[in-house]
Amino acid sequence: MADVMEKLVSLCKRKGFVFQSSEIYGGLNGCWDYGPLGVELLRNIKELWWRAMTSREDIEGLDSSILMHPRVWEASGHVENFTDPLVDCRQCKARFREDLLTDDQRTAGQCPVCGKREVLTEPRAFNLMFKTFVGPVADDSARVFLRPETAQGIFVNFLNVQTAMRQKLPFGIAQVGKAFRNEINTRNFLFRTREFEQMEMQFFVMPGTDAEWFAYWRQERWDWFRQIGLPEKRLSWHEHLGDELAHYARAAFDVQYEFPFGPGEIEGIHNRGNFDLSQHEKVSGKALRYFDEQSRAKVLPCVVETSIGASRTLMACLAEAYHEEQVKGENRVVMRFHPRVAPIKAAVLPLVKRDGMPDIARQIAATLRRRYAVFYDEGGAIGRRYRRMDEVGTPFCITVDSQTLSDDTVTVRERDSMAQERVAAEGLGAFLEGRMDAWQHPDEAAA
Ligand code: ATP
Repeated sequence: MADVMEKLVSLCKRKGFVFQSSEIYGGLNGCWDYGPLGVELLRNIKELWWRAMTSREDIEGLDSSILMHPRVWEASGHVENFTDPLVDCRQCKARFREDLLTDDQRTAGQCPVCGKREVLTEPRAFNLMFKTFVGPVADDSARVFLRPETAQGIFVNFLNVQTAMRQKLPFGIAQVGKAFRNEINTRNFLFRTREFEQMEMQFFVMPGTDAEWFAYWRQERWDWFRQIGLPEKRLSWHEHLGDELAHYARAAFDVQYEFPFGPGEIEGIHNRGNFDLSQHEKVSGKALRYFDEQSRAKVLPCVVETSIGASRTLMACLAEAYHEEQVKGENRVVMRFHPRVAPIKAAVLPLVKRDGMPDIARQIAATLRRRYAVFYDEGGAIGRRYRRMDEVGTPFCITVDSQTLSDDTVTVRERDSMAQERVAAEGLGAFLEGRMDAWQHPDEAAA
């Protein structure tokens, strides 16, 4: 299965999805750049999440700053607790997270890189926050952190948003943005990086109703993964129990996706109780209470959090989409993205470069571009052009041919089935919309 990862990383580079950061300088570990197709894919995922959240009357959006007052991270517990146990190999000098060693390696003190036994140091707590300074003097009083999560920007703005929008409990605040973690080991392509994007939503509820809302949001988030094209058979829940439960959480479930390298968390759903607001009240000295008109009392809300990595979700979409099959004795690589997620929605292709076909095709492309990312391609045999689009996951290829000249119809070739049908050029927009909504994962459609 590691083979699939290699093929995916190579396709991502070749086709302009993802490049290594600062590649010409040898790269920077744990950082990646999104190329022309990758950025469309990432934007689509973020947009689908943003719409799912903020099209509701009970959720507001926010974009808070990356640098925040350093006391935020004292209140949140990150200064003290946001650590991983770091061990060193005395032999080969490699460094790892102690909690990711196997039981055998831990007991034998065995290094997972060089294989030597009794060479590991005792674990020490390593704080994952990146530190920097505001202003010209690099002393302790000017020290700030790059945020390791977007959630704290939401907590400190809870009352601002509530008052500005006259929201009543329960309501949520959603935010998409960069987060930074100085991970000890970066692994598995986009899965664990040092700079990544999160999409977080904190749902503020009346105390005592948190367990109910926690169950509600677990279901909502599961359904969303299904809507972006991840099949049920590769999704699973992982419940945090005992020591695994973070300092802030009353209960926590992860949604896991079955990656080629095994199951990995893509989203955490947490019942945080009133931990965050009470901490910020304590440390800032400012009341963060909500006035409940019914009871005429000020209450400290509880929070249910949904915290998802945009880049990890993108990685799940890439892994899910990658498919190889034999077609007429040839290997076909096809990225079977959900059409709403696919970076390019349609390609418009004149069958030949004459008889006015390119002009008609360009006109169709221009009309569709008002709504979608569209690719125009007139180079090479039509079969080869189809294959190029399959490889980047374009769900529809629209071909202008000689029949178009007489009756204004085009053929639409569907990526997964490769079936073609004739459609009036005028009705293309509505046709594509209908097909995108009706799309089913090929494995599920076949079942
Ligand atoms: P892990 O146990 O994998 O380190 P976590 O439990 O610390 O993750 P959370 O703090 O719950 O993760 O973060 C919420 C989401 O943010 C995760 O589900 C994941 O999608 C994303 N995320 C966290 N760390 C990274 C990272 N280093 N690279 C990419 N995405 C990340």
